[in-house]
Amino acid sequence: MAVESKPLENKAHRVATADFNFHNPAEALSNLLQLAIDLLPSQRAALYEYDDQVGGFTPRFAYGIPLRELGHLSSSSEHPILQAALSQLRAISSGETHGSLGLPLAPGTVACAPCISSSKTIGLIFLANDEKDSYDRDDLGIIEVLATRAADILAFAKQTASQNYLFHRLSLLYQASHAITGTRNRQEAIKQTVIHVLKATSADRCEVMVLDGGESEALRFHQQIEKSGLQTVNSKPISTIRDYPIHHQVLKDLQPATLSLRPPKGSHEDLNTLEEEGISAAAIFPLATGNQALGFLRLLYNQPDRMIREQEMELAQAIINIGAVGIQDAIHLETAEERANQLEVLDEIGREMTSTLDLEVALENTMKHTQRILQCEAAVLFLLDESGEKLVLKASGGRQMRIRDVAIRLEEGIAGWVTRNKRPLIVNDVRTNPLYHSAIDAQTGLLTTSILCVPLVSRDESLGVIEAINHPRGAFTESDQRMIHSVASWAAIALDNSNLFRRVTDERSRLEATLVETADSVVLTDSSGNIILVNQAAGQAFRINTELATGRPASEIFADHPLGDLLISEDINLPTTIEITTPKDRVLHATISEITDVGRVAVMQDITALKQIDHMRSQLLGTAAHDLKNPLNAIRLGADLLNDAPLSDQQRKALSMMRRATDSMTNLITGLLETIRVETSANLLYEPVDLNELILLTIDDLRPLADTRKHSVVYEPPTEPTIVMADVSRLGSVLNNLLSNAIKFSEDSGNIEIAVEWDDECITVSVSDDGPGIPEDEISRIFEHLFRGRVTVRDPNNPIEGTGLGLALTKTVVEQHGGSIWVDTTEGQGSTFRFTLPWEPMPKTGSLQK
Ligand code: ADP
Repeated sequence: MAVESKPLENKAHRVATADFNFHNPAEALSNLLQLAIDLLPSQRAALYEYDDQVGGFTPRFAYGIPLRELGHLSSSSEHPILQAALSQLRAISSGETHGSLGLPLAPGTVACAPCISSSKTIGLIFLANDEKDSYDRDDLGIIEVLATRAADILAFAKQTASQNYLFHRLSLLYQASHAITGTRNRQEAIKQTVIHVLKATSADRCEVMVLDGGESEALRFHQQIEKSGLQTVNSKPISTIRDYPIHHQVLKDLQPATLSLRPPKGSHEDLNTLEEEGISAAAIFPLATGNQALGFLRLLYNQPDRMIREQEMELAQAIINIGAVGIQDAIHLETAEERANQLEVLDEIGREMTSTLDLEVALENTMKHTQRILQCEAAVLFLLDESGEKLVLKASGGRQMRIRDVAIRLEEGIAGWVTRNKRPLIVNDVRTNPLYHSAIDAQTGLLTTSILCVPLVSRDESLGVIEAINHPRGAFTESDQRMIHSVASWAAIALDNSNLFRRVTDERSRLEATLVETADSVVLTDSSGNIILVNQAAGQAFRINTELATGRPASEIFADHPLGDLLISEDINLPTTIEITTPKDRVLHATISEITDVGRVAVMQDITALKQIDHMRSQLLGTAAHDLKNPLNAIRLGADLLNDAPLSDQQRKALSMMRRATDSMTNLITGLLETIRVETSANLLYEPVDLNELILLTIDDLRPLADTRKHSVVYEPPTEPTIVMADVSRLGSVLNNLLSNAIKFSEDSGNIEIAVEWDDECITVSVSDDGPGIPEDEISRIFEHLFRGRVTVRDPNNPIEGTGLGLALTKTVVEQHGGSIWVDTTEGQGSTFRFTLPWEPMPKTGSLQK
């Protein structure tokens, strides 16, 4: 059985179940008001919505009364009915205790109920009837249900709107980031930022201030609707944006701020300036990346009561942040491009400076490049003159100037200061700088306003300065200084190189002159054996045209002469000295040496005269000795004969002295003759000699002598054959001399030892004794001709015989074989004489070595 509902429940049911189109809130809400009128005794109805912006209720829909007749309703309205509805959160009607006057829809009975969503009153619903006490409790109950439904519709609509807004916001941000990050140009990045900020807000105009390394740039943007309906933004640079305290605050805190005249918001000073500018409100946003402020952006409102909304603020700042990154990127890119450009030019300068030896051209080009990169009016280079007292203008780039004869004294001007102090200087306003010297302008014909001057320093020495004159925008910066500093480094290197080159060339010509004019013959070849130089003396000595010879192979110029071989052959150990004879029969003492990175040089002294004197001396000595020998032989013979005669003791003693004296003189003469023979003839008779055999033979020869002195002579023959190429008779005399000295100088019963050792290059023979040794002061002299040590007269009654020629001869012979000789000795502890012989003889002209 069907249960018939009561009219009240029926009404409440209808309200609760009525189908409203939520997607069209306007339609839904006017339908809701219609339903209220239908169900309840009313002539008028209205729906108010809460507005955050104004902090009160705004009429949205009305029934039975035009909407415009309904006014705004402040939440703080003191009407008791409204207060009660808002505080008790229920429907209340006038009439019970209060009249309706002051309420919307009055006069008559007015009922009011709050529309509550999520515990917030988001709207108010009003119903009015002209009769008294029209609404009973049940009616108020139904109004409450109506209000709840209205709240649902309002909330849904709000949510959709905020979703739409979110979407709008996202799409704006997306567009902004796309437009801003796509550009690589700073102006474009700024413009795109402004376009999108203006789109996101209702501002009338926008101003941007970008700080740029000390300089700032201000731009003003206006919205414009074109004929086509397209919205565009036009900009124009402005000299500056009025100075507001809040601007500094924003740049410091990096937080946005707002100013408005009505209601007044902002400091007194800010608001005064705002009024003066004819602006009613402004929002100022920092333009910053991270913690770094690039500038700020302000949105300006002309009409009173207009101001940026909270949500717009957020969106605008988000877009501005994207803009800041874009602008920063563009600035970086600009600097990077500028830098790349500068590097390219520097590279060019470097190449030019190091590749050309024409310094003037290089410096001139460098100044042109420098002027171009810095875009200054001129770039000039001053160098210290030779006196070191004046700076002379050497090169310039940029404006044509009178550069000839321009010179500055070192005590004068900015250039003088920089040269003296070796420190760069930027003077961006020369008139206020005491160093500035206007007389220089008179010389160059420039009107200087700003100067960047860097020193040219090489090895801590000032060479001069480079100056950039007149910056295009007024001020030179540190980065300009760095750039020109690099140029200066290149220039200093180039100057250094050129000085070095000049010195080397001077040196070379001096050397050439010396070589050409020297009395010695000089022949110089390059590493491939071609003649570099045959000097005058060599030309004459070898009958060569010195000029024609240059550049030709040495082998060709000295074709039939050993010098040709000496200058090109690979098989010679250099340096080497050799005696050579020229086609004109002159004897030259030639030293041939290697010169690193050049080739070989032969320096030859003409020793023909010396040779002649030497020859004469030997001849003289030989004849004298020969002539002395015959009478000496006669005396000795006479003495021998006298020996058999009956003589007194005294006579016999005198005879014995005479015999000894003649013997020693004969020995001396024989020694001298031998020395002369050996020393004047370097032509050794080389043959394979078994050194071991030669030593054994020498020991045998001297054995009787050793035995009389009771010496032991120890020699252990080597295990391997010791065959050397040598002149056997001369080598024999070497061994004989050394062994006989050891026997002669050692006390009786001495120990003498001969030993042989060898390596890949040579064989070494040593003769050691445990005799008296050689005093230190004598060691250097024992190889001299006729030198005899103090040991020979140790016992004045019985001096040790000798001539002082033995070791001199020995040394000559050893060296003739390409070996060397030395002694290791300590006085009182014996001596060891050692000499070496190369396996293969490397003959040297022994007589020439002395
Ligand atoms: P001489 O043997 O005729 O004196 P040398 O030229 O052979 O001349 O030697 C020169 C000097 O060297 C000798 O007078 C002597 O003073 C010193 N001398 C040479 N050999 C020895 C040696 N084995 N021990 C000590 N002194 C030596």
